[in-house]
Amino acid sequence: MKSFEESAVDQAEWDRVKTRLKQEFGDSVFKSWVSPITPASLRNGEVELSVPTRFMKDWISTHYAERIRALWNGENPSVRKVTLKVDSARPAEKSVTQSGEKQARAPHASQRTASAPVRAASVTAPVFAGGVELSAPLDPRYNFDNFVVGKPNEFAYAAAKRVAESDQVSFNPLFLYGGVGLGKTHLMHAIAHEIRNRTPHRKVVYLSAEKFMYSFVRALRNQDMVSFKEQFRSVDVLMIDDVQFISGKDSTQEEFFHTFNALVDQGRQIVLSADKSPSNLEEIGDRLRSRLSSGLVADLHPTTFELRLGILDAKAEQLGVAVPQKVKEFLAHKITSNVRELEGALTRLVAHVQLVGGQLTLEAAQDLLQDLLRAHDRRLTMEEIQKRVAEHFKIRISDMSSARRSRAVARPRQVAMYLSKQLTSRSLPEIGRAFGGRDHTTVMHAVKKVEELVKLDTNFAEDVELLTRMLES
Ligand code: ADP
Ligand code: MG
Repeated sequence: MKSFEESAVDQAEWDRVKTRLKQEFGDSVFKSWVSPITPASLRNGEVELSVPTRFMKDWISTHYAERIRALWNGENPSVRKVTLKVDSARPAEKSVTQSGEKQARAPHASQRTASAPVRAASVTAPVFAGGVELSAPLDPRYNFDNFVVGKPNEFAYAAAKRVAESDQVSFNPLFLYGGVGLGKTHLMHAIAHEIRNRTPHRKVVYLSAEKFMYSFVRALRNQDMVSFKEQFRSVDVLMIDDVQFISGKDSTQEEFFHTFNALVDQGRQIVLSADKSPSNLEEIGDRLRSRLSSGLVADLHPTTFELRLGILDAKAEQLGVAVPQKVKEFLAHKITSNVRELEGALTRLVAHVQLVGGQLTLEAAQDLLQDLLRAHDRRLTMEEIQKRVAEHFKIRISDMSSARRSRAVARPRQVAMYLSKQLTSRSLPEIGRAFGGRDHTTVMHAVKKVEELVKLDTNFAEDVELLTRMLES
């Protein structure tokens, strides 16, 4: 064990946290916000992260610190808190924030240290460089043909298709929401591709809310609001991805709101995405919230096993490799959090086999993905499962490990054991131990029992399904 008084930060832990952040938030967020972070110290369970500017510090604190803490805690349970500090000695190499910081404080004050060069923010560069390209580039792979449709996303897919295919404004705004990696960005790009192909004269602008914000902040600083507004107000279809990032910045919200209203009034199409529904977006004003809900709100639900399997089929075909059914099922069972991770796992397996040779067997998959699977387990603990199941069936958590055998507690306990087996990669004896030191045969029996009951009793099956979804999401 480490001493928790004061110890150096474990670089390997931080690297793993970074890998996960990249998966969850994507490359551009990662580049802008995560790569400039340096872990400075670990003291009494508190990790201190150092960043080059004050603006970054504020932004990361509100947007990413909690996730960093949670992920790091998963890597190292002694980490309970994450704080940020500004290391002014560091030249702000990652120029992203330099202009942002200056802006955030006072547009014309020269508070910068002389050594810190001012460069154009790389985040805004593609948007406003020379005032030409407003839209972010689109990924050609994100089209409707490559999107696998299943129950959890069929509604969002249909809505997206409709907006893309109709020449008139149909639902305005179309608001797509869902958890990380469930296909929001994919659908947005697909809409943009489709509209550009069908009606090339329409001006389609797609950009992330962060870029929107930066463009706005930058225009403010350069006292260039007029052309900022003009540019946005001349588009036919405005698509803004991840609008949850707009929350909390009053002036940006205000501008967003005006831009938004102007476009809607002129009959232009707006498509937005977020990780929550408009009503659950905290920190945004009521006016904006109600405006966002005024069109069509379509959500992407967590994937089901069938959808994951379908996606793996499609991806394997795209990669041009035959992946054994068993391996696909294994992945679809184990990697339930989001599609990005699922893809990542498949790509990794395929790459390994292609580079190193060998057969793509179930054993190879288990072996190659060990760390990934373990990270998953860490996120979902048996304790969490017990807690949720106990809540669901309204029994005490302590009954998960108690000796009571009445059906009212025994059944939920069996469900929790079953879910522990399905959703974590704990062994039967480990599960038995977590449930009051029961024998592994008891766990095996519980698993069989639940499997049987699911087939016989639809209410019970629904309970199990519901719990599974809740725990997986
Ligand atoms: P989000 O924007 O919701 O976080 P993305 O659209 O970036 O998620 O999706 C993450 C990855 O998963 C992308 O590579 C995307 O192509 C893929 N993906 C998500 N859903 C599907 C789907 N239904 N069919 C095919 N690929 C999908
Ligand atoms: Mg996205």
